[in-house]
Amino acid sequence: MSNTPEKIECLIVGSGPAGYTAAIYAARADIKPVVYAGMQPGGQLTITTDVENYPGYPEGIMGPEMMENFRKQAERLGTEVRYGMVTKVDFTGKPPYKIQVDEKHEILAETVIISTGASAKWLGIPSEEKLNGRGVSACAVCDGFFFKGKDVAIVGAGDTACEEASYLAKICSKVYMIVRRGEFRASKAMQHRVQNTPNIEILFNSETDEILGENKVEGVRVKNNKSGETREIAIQGFFVAIGHQPNTEIFKEYITMDETGYIITQPDSSRTNVEGVFACGDAQDKVYRQAVTAAGTGCMAALDAERYLSAKHAAGSH
Ligand code: NDP
Repeated sequence: MSNTPEKIECLIVGSGPAGYTAAIYAARADIKPVVYAGMQPGGQLTITTDVENYPGYPEGIMGPEMMENFRKQAERLGTEVRYGMVTKVDFTGKPPYKIQVDEKHEILAETVIISTGASAKWLGIPSEEKLNGRGVSACAVCDGFFFKGKDVAIVGAGDTACEEASYLAKICSKVYMIVRRGEFRASKAMQHRVQNTPNIEILFNSETDEILGENKVEGVRVKNNKSGETREIAIQGFFVAIGHQPNTEIFKEYITMDETGYIITQPDSSRTNVEGVFACGDAQDKVYRQAVTAAGTGCMAALDAERYLSAKHAAGSH
């Protein structure tokens, strides 16, 4: 580890739409943003295909290409984008705060913008990990295409699962929906949609015992948690849609969050409970979770950071 920590005015942690939009605004405000791109540079959009609901792209755009554009725009305006993971923060006392990157590089940050996003949750069974990318996926929109005309299963009973089941039903011959309780969590409209789709079969009170197959998905063993009966179903694709987990673990000692780890920001602001630390994007939004809303809150975070620094400098110069 180097002896003198590097000083950074505006440190942005995460590189999805929120992080890069924060960077664009911060660079233009001349607070010299440095973005740490994290484990999945570009964020969740890099694992999607067509983005059709981001304004300004009348023909739609591919997710990875859109995130390349975000990065280029941020860099052109003066952002430094680095590949690395922020692994530890110390938000005790007043800024600048000590931040560690990849467990070796130490930074002193005047302001920190958290834009670490969220990741899909997994069931946590061994066969799921073994067959990940070999028929197991957490994104129907990204991977559904590979199962055209085939039989697939999807786990979950929320709006995402229903939306993805409907999407898959248009591409695949048959979709089995594995629902752990006797009812859905999804909104009534979404429930009706799946219930009225002829090639979706809903398996209530059902849990995934094991995904079958050695090198690729060949089936699933489903257990009825009321009767205890198990059943093997031949499928080629297995989708998991059981919600998302915000990537906020490293901040939890300092930052106020809800019980599921979403950061709580102050009303009409991106401010957290810690002075000089702001949050934006899916790390603090469990309701909308859209690229465009993430970008909007990224803008808010940069404006808040800039105003905070200006006020601090003005106070310091008196
Ligand atoms: P949710 O948290 O709403 O639902 C997760 C689902 O996964 C629940 O049905 C839950 O079951 C199930 N689940 C969780 N863990 C397991 C497990 N280990 N095994 C089996 N099943 C499991 O997540 P969503 O991603 O669906 O939605 C998140 C938010 O986004 C919601 O507020 C939703 O309304 C919103 N959304 C809205 C959309 C729209 O309006 N078009 C589209 C997509 C999302 P159980 O019910 O038993 O707890």
